[in-house]
Amino acid sequence: MDCIFCQIVAGKIPADIVYQDEEVIAFGDIHPIAPTHLLIIPQRHIPSLAHLSEEDLPLIGHLVNIANHLAKREGISESGYRLVVNCGGQGGQLVPHLHIHLIGGRRLSDELG
Ligand code: 5GP
Ligand code: ZN
Repeated sequence: MDCIFCQIVAGKIPADIVYQDEEVIAFGDIHPIAPTHLLIIPQRHIPSLAHLSEEDLPLIGHLVNIANHLAKREGISESGYRLVVNCGGQGGQLVPHLHIHLIGGRRLSDELG
């Protein structure tokens, strides 16, 4: 098991876990780019968005719902925030375990990259 995020799920690598349920965990990004920068991930290893199947659609809804819930808890629901999912090499994905970035707490760039 050489996936960093699977090791965080298994408790083998420490992380600042801010939410956990049977399917999902969320934790602080180790290199935050904004006052709020959380990662929301499925506990099950799914490499990327490109590996999702029809059966995973409820899981994606759940991940986004948790992201919105955490945005409220962080106090950035009204001011605004961004959810980002990088997919694959040219999409800027560095960790090959599906994750949603929840970024906020400052004015973000208008450019998507
Ligand atoms: P990606 O580029 O794959 O969308 O984003 C991966 C994110 O994971 C990066 O923002 C990076 O800072 C974060 N990250 C990488 N390794 C670790 C780690 O060991 N712990 C935590 N908390 N975040 C990590
Ligand atoms: Zn994994």
